[in-house]
Amino acid sequence: MLKGKVAIITGGTRGIGLETVKLFKENHAEVILFGSKKESVDKALAILAEENIKVGGYYPNLNDVKEVEETVEKIIQEYGKIDILVNNAGISANKKIENTTYEEFEKIINLNVNAIFNMTKAVVPYMRKNGGGVILNTSSMVSIYGQPSGVGYPTSKFAVNGLTKSLARELGPSNIRVNAVAPGVTNTDMLTNLPKEMIEPLIKTIPLGRIGEPRDIANAFLFLASPMASYITGEILSVDGAARS
Ligand code: NAD
Repeated sequence: MLKGKVAIITGGTRGIGLETVKLFKENHAEVILFGSKKESVDKALAILAEENIKVGGYYPNLNDVKEVEETVEKIIQEYGKIDILVNNAGISANKKIENTTYEEFEKIINLNVNAIFNMTKAVVPYMRKNGGGVILNTSSMVSIYGQPSGVGYPTSKFAVNGLTKSLARELGPSNIRVNAVAPGVTNTDMLTNLPKEMIEPLIKTIPLGRIGEPRDIANAFLFLASPMASYITGEILSVDGAARS
């Protein structure tokens, strides 16, 4: 489904991102994964190498405009173009507002929102030059109703939806589609870091009766990245077993 395409996936070292890297490779894309540091990128590349999967790996500070631009330029020099950008890197929060510092709130917005702005801004000129592209963002089911603690996280994901819908309108005339996937409770490290008291009641409300697996989310990214979604832009696709908090 992605033969001949070049894709960057941020937060590609584990969880949803790593599964999306694998699925895009299975579908014959060239993939470059981004992680937060050298060690996690090396670890992901080693896991993939064991399965005979070869991808590129970088670890720019996603909030540093210059570092992001330089990394994107390196990728252009090596691969010639960028067709797909998956802005997936993200962190969550679960503390009550009284226990949350300004710095903690800012850290979430910096990665979950500002990094998407940075990455997208760096890649769009190359997509325009290439006659089009696909930008996909990872939102969340909490981008619809919020959540009872950790206000920075849903706030950031509401912003992801805003970025997605607005950029779809701005970039559509350049044949660049922009969509988001809004996962529900998904079986990754992010989930295991949350308290059981928060997760267990949530699972009971999921009509499909189970949490999502990274492959469930990767499948949605594959569909939206592929020509099968050629007339879909500005959408937030829920992949949550109808949980929607
Ligand atoms: P994860 O913790 O397994 O993976 C997070 C990824 O983000 C990792 O690859 C990590 O390297 C990267 N990352 C973290 N901090 C970074 C930083 N400072 N700079 C660059 N990269 C950084 O979690 P996941 O569940 O796979 O999360 C992926 C995305 O899915 C996130 O945007 C998350 O908000 C979203 N999401 C997850 C769930 C869930 O239940 N797991 C639900 C809804 C949305």
